[in-house]
Amino acid sequence: MNALKPGSTIGIIGGGQLGRMLASAAAQLGYRCHVYAPDGDSVAAEVSAFFTQAAYDDEEALSRFADSVDVVTYEFENLPVAPLRALAAKVPVRPSPEALAVAQDRLSEKAFVTELGGRTAPWAPVSDRDALGAAITRVGTPAILKTTRFGYDGKGQARLHSPADADDAWKALGGRPAILEGFVRFEREFSVIVARGIDGREVSWDPADNLHDHGILSHCVVPAGGIVERQAQEARLLAMRVAEKLDYVGVLTLEFFASAEGPVFNEMAPRVHNSGHWTIEGAVTSQFENHIRAVCGLPLGDTRLAARRVTMDNLIGEAADNWDVILADPSAHLHLYGKDEARPGRKMGHVTRLEF
Ligand code: AMP
Repeated sequence: MNALKPGSTIGIIGGGQLGRMLASAAAQLGYRCHVYAPDGDSVAAEVSAFFTQAAYDDEEALSRFADSVDVVTYEFENLPVAPLRALAAKVPVRPSPEALAVAQDRLSEKAFVTELGGRTAPWAPVSDRDALGAAITRVGTPAILKTTRFGYDGKGQARLHSPADADDAWKALGGRPAILEGFVRFEREFSVIVARGIDGREVSWDPADNLHDHGILSHCVVPAGGIVERQAQEARLLAMRVAEKLDYVGVLTLEFFASAEGPVFNEMAPRVHNSGHWTIEGAVTSQFENHIRAVCGLPLGDTRLAARRVTMDNLIGEAADNWDVILADPSAHLHLYGKDEARPGRKMGHVTRLEF
């Protein structure tokens, strides 16, 4: 196996908490990290050996970055793909820019998953206001109009209760290219996280039952039990097929709705995921460590649960101010991301609790 030796430098594009936790996992294995991000106050750079502050499409800065690292990964999917392709000509980029291109566009990820036999909500592309009318005829209402790109945590979305909502929905999205999705009547939401090594070996963690608050993940429970557990295997097999087809290297997350018809694919993220933070203490090997292992060409670690039950709560906005109360519970594993300003809706940290 072509493993990168400990002591090598891993480039991480993106400077947020996912990069911070990746860098911590990399440090444990003896690697150094070089964070590349446009903002000066990167919480990932804070725990990394090197930092480049530059725009994601700054070709000169990216070229210097490529010269200074042994492999590149990313923790953020809204990156321009073309500069990454240029980077990949100089240094291995894992997961590949092609995987990123599929995952960062709701139309291409839905088409990709449909092709592989996955179940999705009925959907139709919406490039302009006229196309929205045609999409409503095809998909029906209730439905959700979503921008094809740059949406996260429920942003860039508008609901249509009836066709009469079309004008308002189109205006709410500001005329950006979109996808109309039929509304899925689901019982639960869950995610499947898989890791694939450069040798093609795949592992996955137990799926987390995910609860959201105002479109933001708030709480995960593992094992999920109930309908999620019954649909987990089908979802897991689909996630593994997606990873294989993309010749994926690293951690990949697929989000699903558990519906009466079976697991309905919602979206994928070509990266470690908030719904996998519980794996730091709750699994034998975390999503962060396995991502680092994968991109460095190392064998993947055991993904089994390390406790009978694991819960993870996100600390959003001012919730993180309760750090002292949280720490009074000896079973609480507190993670704070080191962000200065607790804006509403901002992910400031998380707490994981293990039950034995
Ligand atoms: P997303 O950004 O696609 O993850 O959507 C944010 C949230 O909106 C999801 O977690 C769901 O709760 C809800 N949602 C998104 N798409 C649909 C859909 N097609 N049917 C029902 N609910 C949805």
